[in-house]
Amino acid sequence: MDYVKIVDVYEELSGTTKGLEKTKILSEFLKKLKGNEEWIYLFRGRVFPDYDESEFGISTQLVIKSISKAGGVSKDKVISRLRSIGDLGEIAEEFIGKGKQEVLFSKKLSVKKVFENLKKLVSINGKGSVDRKLGLIIELLTSAGGKEAKYIARTLLNDLRVGVADGLLRDSVAKGFFHDGDGVKELVESAYDKVNDWAHVLKLAQNGRKALESVKIVPGRPMKVMLPVKVTELEEAFRICGKPLAVEHKYDGFRAIISKNYNGEISLFTRKLDNVTNQFPDVVEIIKKQVKGKSFIIDSEIVGYDKKTGRPKPFEAISQRIRRKYDINDLIKKLPVEVNVFDVMFYNGESVLDLKFIDRRKLLEKFINPASLKIRLSRQFISSDEKEILEFYKDALKTGEEGVMMKKLDAPYRPGRRIGYIVKMKPDAKDFDLVITGAEYGSGKRAGGLTSFYVACKDGEKEFLEVGKVSSGLKEKEEMGTSYKEIDKLLQPLIIKEKDNYVKVKPKVVVSVTYQNIQKSPRYSSGFALRFPRITHYRPERGIYDIATLKEIGKEAGLEKSWGFKKGLS
Ligand code: ATP
Repeated sequence: MDYVKIVDVYEELSGTTKGLEKTKILSEFLKKLKGNEEWIYLFRGRVFPDYDESEFGISTQLVIKSISKAGGVSKDKVISRLRSIGDLGEIAEEFIGKGKQEVLFSKKLSVKKVFENLKKLVSINGKGSVDRKLGLIIELLTSAGGKEAKYIARTLLNDLRVGVADGLLRDSVAKGFFHDGDGVKELVESAYDKVNDWAHVLKLAQNGRKALESVKIVPGRPMKVMLPVKVTELEEAFRICGKPLAVEHKYDGFRAIISKNYNGEISLFTRKLDNVTNQFPDVVEIIKKQVKGKSFIIDSEIVGYDKKTGRPKPFEAISQRIRRKYDINDLIKKLPVEVNVFDVMFYNGESVLDLKFIDRRKLLEKFINPASLKIRLSRQFISSDEKEILEFYKDALKTGEEGVMMKKLDAPYRPGRRIGYIVKMKPDAKDFDLVITGAEYGSGKRAGGLTSFYVACKDGEKEFLEVGKVSSGLKEKEEMGTSYKEIDKLLQPLIIKEKDNYVKVKPKVVVSVTYQNIQKSPRYSSGFALRFPRITHYRPERGIYDIATLKEIGKEAGLEKSWGFKKGLS
């Protein structure tokens, strides 16, 4: 097995855009991974499961240097090629592998060796770490053939370009181990949403359907959350959730999955699966004191509030707390938070995902001990009365909340799904969460940094389509909220292509953007353009799977899908 050429699989995968063909190629390969299930991570350009936040931490600059050293060419030559072709993978192939025999990942450079060295890279930190990383990458590249070098470089940069997203992995596992039909894909997906680890899912699939069905969520690990659909009228809410339904305030903070593992340790995760426990020692204390139970996973919204008035603060405040890694105690005093708990997924060693919502809520009421401005259960009431619900909605807005959530009483909890078990209703805010895919350097006062940003929605799992260019909304100075400088710093390591003052970046940084209206426009690849867009927040806790979809943009623009052009900057 060790001599299997993963590079051939990569090449075959990138040689087709057809989903079915890709699924066939990948499923055949996955069947051969017994004993080496972890190698499945390599298809997502990783060496760890998704719930593990470890990153290679390799900048474009370091890869440029490695290619230059391993290939015996000047750095300037690598950089000038990068400017014209924009893919360090191809450049590595060009400069490193020429004339070498293609063996990837074969005897000379086994998958095992590549995998281990990549893992080592992640663990290198502290003083002298850049040089040690450089050494390891050069070692890998010099023993690589051209194609091998291409994929190693791309993996390091988190930009594999073989067109494998979670959906394709799901289909390939389903196809490789089960007969079609019978909800197999859903089963694989639901197992993945619980464990966030493809190697784990692969092992279960090898053992058959029962194993997949019995997969458990684990306290202490992040998990995907259940998300609502948007409604504009109460009637729609009733149609989706039935009557009566539960109505709750929609709090405007950040979604936190709080968990107590079997050792009694408390951890906090965002919906992007990031571990933010260290940023919130105050919340850990509250949970220890106010929540009874040997082990649990609860779902909540953590909201910042004004110390004087007790009223909720806008998201920007809490966003600072998520990002801050130093002087945390000062910030806790300045920006206190309250935990609003609204669901439970696991309690005292047992998954409660399949309990009805109404019963999960009753369970919550038993083991959460509310404390003023520290922790409470979300304000809720059950009703089928339109008038009463609208009153509650108005009251929510009056107290400074965002709107209301309405929930189906007999629904189970389904991690990772945006299905009709929960709906949200709020005043039309005209904003979308979008990902930055490109940027431009500014001039004049803002020269030197990236100051205009191309923002994109998603279409399917992998395609990002631009909907506009936004230059306003960020702050000039850091202490006043998210600044241009901060976004620039986040984007610099993500640059994959440069041309004049334009850079193309890996889609990672998510921002909330408001706008005046949406127009149909051939200027951007989505076919739409946001008019007068403005960034309201950087969303450190949201991932690219959270952003607005093309369908949502189209719906908001009030247009049918009749645009036929795809012309973008990229
Ligand atoms: P929008 O995009 O409409 O501005 P949003 O970005 O918060 O809102 P969603 O992510 O679809 O949109 O809204 C769901 C979010 O609302 C949840 O992820 C959670 O963080 C938050 N929320 C606040 N209060 C509640 C509640 N009572 N029950 C469930 N979720 C809640």
